[in-house]
Amino acid sequence: MAPLSTRTVTATLQRVPPPWPSWVNVENTLRCNLDCIWCAQALVGSTKSGVDMPLPLFERIAAEVLPRVSRLSFSVAGEPTIAPQFLEFLDLVNQLDLTTELVTNATALHRPGLLPRLLPRLGLLIASIDGARPATVEHIRAGAKFARIVENLERFDAARRAIPARPEFLVAMTLSAVNVDELPEVVDLAAKLGADRVVCSWLQVMDPSLLDLSLHAAPARIERTFGLARARSRHRRIGLELPDEPPLIPVGLGARRAFEVFAPRRRRAALRAALQRAGVLAWETRSGLGARCSFLWRRAYLHADGQVSPCCVQGRPYVGSLLDRSFAEIWIGPEMTALRAGMFDGHPHSACTRCSQGQGPNPAPIEAWTSPVRNPLDARSG
Ligand code: SF4
Repeated sequence: MAPLSTRTVTATLQRVPPPWPSWVNVENTLRCNLDCIWCAQALVGSTKSGVDMPLPLFERIAAEVLPRVSRLSFSVAGEPTIAPQFLEFLDLVNQLDLTTELVTNATALHRPGLLPRLLPRLGLLIASIDGARPATVEHIRAGAKFARIVENLERFDAARRAIPARPEFLVAMTLSAVNVDELPEVVDLAAKLGADRVVCSWLQVMDPSLLDLSLHAAPARIERTFGLARARSRHRRIGLELPDEPPLIPVGLGARRAFEVFAPRRRRAALRAALQRAGVLAWETRSGLGARCSFLWRRAYLHADGQVSPCCVQGRPYVGSLLDRSFAEIWIGPEMTALRAGMFDGHPHSACTRCSQGQGPNPAPIEAWTSPVRNPLDARSG
């Protein structure tokens, strides 16, 4: 499709503003208790910065933004569970009607008072493990104790099974040259822990120092380990998602998830999500445009210092601060409009040009990520 003129597409976006996002990420902390060897945030030092979102800022977000979203996820650049005021954040969330997601390194799930506050709204917990052997996990996730992670996840699994609207439990593995051979063992471990699925992604090499960890040059090794992992997943009856492949979901698990949709809380959340999808479709019809990046139209990242961005992609743009404007103003403000217009007028933001959601190839070549970041604000948090 030929690019539209910037003026035309901007006028359309102003005349027919997109609906409220359905999914919001709140970066409740930048700090992390680990030093994972490939973590972009650890490499730039932000995880030791000690920056946490202040409670008054989260109270504003809880009042303005969260009542109209269906999913809330915590932190992306730090470990959410170690933030000093995380329990107070959860107390506020528990007064709202939404579903939460938590991506965690699982090292602090034993924190007193955490699970009872987390579980009432939790829909999904993703535990990043990256290995099945203590030596591998403690090498990649430097600072972690494998035994503590296992103990915490066993405790979490027992607690989630004791409530009616049982949250999903996923084990995540980033595949690299140092751990890919362990994938079949990770499937075994996840099954033993009671998890529903193992979800794998490629290591995105964001720094030239990590090139040796990339699996770009090892296709035979990948095929062998993937074959073993698929067999283990069928044998253990646990779901498995490998990059670029349809997920393997055991029949019993799929049926149970479908059944759980009928639990009252899940039903409301599913209804809200469906309404929001319908809102985007209605917007597409009215505007005559397509929602070309699901993040620009459906998601928002609210950072610890009040900045807002549409995604967590390296080099992402920042589109305004909650310290200066309301979220409603930022969501349809000139910065977001310019980003959305860039999807149609042939002038996408530099981050969008190398991102598979926008105009970039999928997967992006390594040079796309290791070349210098052009967005000056990106130096803030990596
Ligand atoms: S195209 Fe990619 S970089 Fe651009 S806003 Fe969407 S997710 Fe972010």
